[in-house]
Amino acid sequence: MDIEGMDMEGMDIADMDIADMDIAGMDIENDIEKRFKANRSGHLQTKGRIFDIQRYSIHDGNGIRTIVFLKGCVLRCRWCCNPESQEYAIQTMKVKGEDKIIGRDVTVAEVMETVERDRPYYYRSDGGLTLSGGESLCQPEFAYSLLLTAQAAGIHTALESMGGVPYSVIARILPCLDQYLLDIKHINPQKHRDYTGRDNGLMLENARKIAASGQTELSIRVPVIPGFNDTVAEIEDIARFAGSLPSVKKIHLLPYHRLGQDKYEGLGREYQMKDMEPPTNEHMMELMKAAGRVSGLDCQLGG
Ligand code: SF4
Repeated sequence: MDIEGMDMEGMDIADMDIADMDIAGMDIENDIEKRFKANRSGHLQTKGRIFDIQRYSIHDGNGIRTIVFLKGCVLRCRWCCNPESQEYAIQTMKVKGEDKIIGRDVTVAEVMETVERDRPYYYRSDGGLTLSGGESLCQPEFAYSLLLTAQAAGIHTALESMGGVPYSVIARILPCLDQYLLDIKHINPQKHRDYTGRDNGLMLENARKIAASGQTELSIRVPVIPGFNDTVAEIEDIARFAGSLPSVKKIHLLPYHRLGQDKYEGLGREYQMKDMEPPTNEHMMELMKAAGRVSGLDCQLGG
């Protein structure tokens, strides 16, 4: 059997059952199918912690998507519209005066039941599954098992992430990831640290490595935050960096909004952005044109 000549992408050899590999009666298609089955049966029981699943979303990836929101993040961005995502711990948040439990532990199999229900929508729209958060890669085993299982089932996979984890975690998921929506918030490390709690060195380095790998469709997403990164010069810096990455085709500018404000109150936390006005449409258009001009990339608002 020519193991070396086989396409082993997306398969975790360590998780395969050697008994499934019928070396004497070689049939590569069956072999691959068996491996996927072996993988799926192993990975279906992987547990993770999520706080929401949104169906029929037309954001966060191509087509119509099911978004799974994982709990936990290493950053503390001042503008975060999902503050209930930041802590890995299960929390209680007041919603319209009622206590709501935020976070539940699930298996990949349980999540896939919901994802599978929307398969007809994926086919019609080229959609699929997107992992979001929080930062999904803070639960690397769960993220990997879920992406691997979905892709092995023929479902398009996407990840919304700022990439602030060791590259080894990212390298492991790339073979089962069709689309990476990578957040880049600022080029200046000190300003990044001041507003998010960490500098951006690891994230920018990972962005270069992901782009160089060529293993996934890579788009850059920039939350446009007043007082943080909303000058033409700051957006141009990010856009120039994005334009320098091989294989990036698109840059998305996402205007700041205040939809998360009530959640801070529900969690008993102060909302530090309460005096900040969202950017105007005119200003967003100006930034979009500037980003497209310096990067040579297709630049769009939202998405
Ligand atoms: S990286 Fe995203 S989820 Fe994490 S704190 Fe920042 S905005 Fe919130």
